[in-house]
Amino acid sequence: MNAFSRRGACPALSAPMQTGDGLLVRLNPVAGGLSPKSLIGLGESALRHGNGIMEVTARGSLQIRGLTAGSARLLAAEVDALGIAVRSGVPVEIGPLAGIDPQEIADPRPLAERIRVAIEEAGLTARLGPKVSVVVDGGGQLTMDAVTADVRLKAVRAGGDTLWSVSVAGDARSAKQLATVDADAARDIAVAALRMVAEKGREAHTRDLTERQLASLAGWRSFAPPSVLPDISPTRGEIEPSPPVSPIAKLEPSSKVAGRAPSAELPISPLVGEMSGRTEGGAVERRRSPVGLFDLSNSHALGIALPYGSLPAQNLIDLATQATNLGATEIRLAPGRALLFLGLSTYACVSLDASAATLGFVTSPTDPRTRIAACPGTPACASGRIATRAIAETIAAQRPDLLDSSLTLHISGCAKGCAHPGTAALTLVGDENGAGLVVDGTAKALPAGYRPGYDAARGIADILAALRAQRHPGETAAACLARLGAASVAELYRRNQ
Ligand code: SF4
Repeated sequence: MNAFSRRGACPALSAPMQTGDGLLVRLNPVAGGLSPKSLIGLGESALRHGNGIMEVTARGSLQIRGLTAGSARLLAAEVDALGIAVRSGVPVEIGPLAGIDPQEIADPRPLAERIRVAIEEAGLTARLGPKVSVVVDGGGQLTMDAVTADVRLKAVRAGGDTLWSVSVAGDARSAKQLATVDADAARDIAVAALRMVAEKGREAHTRDLTERQLASLAGWRSFAPPSVLPDISPTRGEIEPSPPVSPIAKLEPSSKVAGRAPSAELPISPLVGEMSGRTEGGAVERRRSPVGLFDLSNSHALGIALPYGSLPAQNLIDLATQATNLGATEIRLAPGRALLFLGLSTYACVSLDASAATLGFVTSPTDPRTRIAACPGTPACASGRIATRAIAETIAAQRPDLLDSSLTLHISGCAKGCAHPGTAALTLVGDENGAGLVVDGTAKALPAGYRPGYDAARGIADILAALRAQRHPGETAAACLARLGAASVAELYRRNQ
């Protein structure tokens, strides 16, 4: 059995994605983390077989770019040789500090594993689309609030007990709350929801479930046996009237019924751009950054991010080597394009942080590069019309003081908008006319004005300069932008060409 057949269940290694700079593979270690030695080995494989660029996505997946069909096979074999077990099946994601954060409400790992097993036993993996996912969030210092998912389970305290708040279709802010129940019921609701999605086809998500289906999930009983999980089909009608609400759910004020309250062959994915810089659902609310120091029981975790989610593999090798020398025991991938280095003393954190800054990593949550979402653009992506990352670097260097947390700047190589599917205060989007500006919209919107791509950073600099001059005391950049209005902002962008 070769590496690819062993990995047949893993879409990342068995079906690399075609991008503008070759094939891309995405890896998620089963254990959530890697030894520093494994990350060094992966970096060396990326240098040998790819174009030397490595990425960490907004969801915390590791990506290696610039592969060919042949080199992707060699990479997969080396991943095996490194002993890295990669995730397969429907993603059931947990927080990057799961199980080691003294502030978490509950360790989400056991429940996540039970859900993985239940999904497999229900035969759902092959029936669900590749982007269907579940989040199990134990709370604590680094939550999964910003990560969108089809089903979300979040630990909550209820008296002396731990219950799980179940919601669907979104991030923590936008998902529809269904019920607050014990772990057994949470697992059953999650699997029932996925089964309903599977009945609708591989393109479906929980956002496609009807109000009646959501209501039936909200009323799910913790003691319902698996044999009575609803078998919902659009062709056979929806689920029959809801079962009684769980006794546990009745105790919990938030437990309302939704609607009333809330192979041997290497398959190559078609050219669809890629999502290395993708953010989640357009959510712009700022949550705790994964960058910085986190207190654990007897040590620290140090969060370090990749600017726009990517850096040369050699930089990761150098940082992981330094981490090894400083005693790091594990490196976990974190949502927000970050790496968390575990097992470090306070002194080691200071030293590694300094090394990371020198190597070009993001070491401060206020780094202006964290305020900018930029896809790979040209030349990395064949669909790109502008050099997104170069524009982003110029803007971040010119106006670091003006990119406050209220303002989202999205730089997209084309209208696909991979880096930030939702609305941003300012979006630069490449098309046949150059770099278009969209104010308070998405990359798919009609730009209000254009500049040549090579000169786009100057147009943004003019807007930011106007914001600095016209901001009222205490006014955020985003509020000032809204007050100026889209037409004025577009005029600022167009002038002085
Ligand atoms: S937005 Fe366009 S240019 Fe950017 S990565 Fe996606 S497809 Fe490529």
